[in-house]
Amino acid sequence: MNIAISGTPGVGKTTIAKLLGKKLNLKVINEKDFALKKGIGSFNEMDELEIPIDEFEKTANALLLKEGNIIFEGHLLCEMKLKVDKFIVLTLDPEKLQLRLELRNYPEEKIMDNTFCEGIEYCKKHAKKNYKTKLIVIESKEQNELINELLDLLN
Ligand code: ADP
Repeated sequence: MNIAISGTPGVGKTTIAKLLGKKLNLKVINEKDFALKKGIGSFNEMDELEIPIDEFEKTANALLLKEGNIIFEGHLLCEMKLKVDKFIVLTLDPEKLQLRLELRNYPEEKIMDNTFCEGIEYCKKHAKKNYKTKLIVIESKEQNELINELLDLLN
């Protein structure tokens, strides 16, 4: 089984992907790590990696088809069409997201951008278009509760 997890930065994708990977015995791949490893994208003047969607999609899909049993996780995945069986969008109340990002010492501008994106459901809207019936939208909550709910939905 191949799964992808997306959502605004800070909603808890990396955390839940690792837990789900252990439970389902799937390899977890972070979007940025994958792009760096494959030489996809370049750093802008703010030292952020800009990842071209088409190139990432093509390279990731080749791996999904070749190896399988993978969980991809990252905030850009909602903007492409990955060859996965299920696509999960993790959501979080924008005010809670703001608090989480403040605790992580995110720059103020990034906190505003991400809170705004979550507020307008940017990732969910893109994922609906790209993944249709494969889409699972789930709100972040206490980790054990979240993982149990997800396992139920995936079965
Ligand atoms: P993302 O990969 O979406 O950017 P992370 O998994 O890195 O998010 O989590 C962002 C922050 O939120 C981390 O400090 C993490 O410890 C915390 N966190 C993750 N999942 C939860 C959860 N279910 N409940 C509370 N805090 C969480």
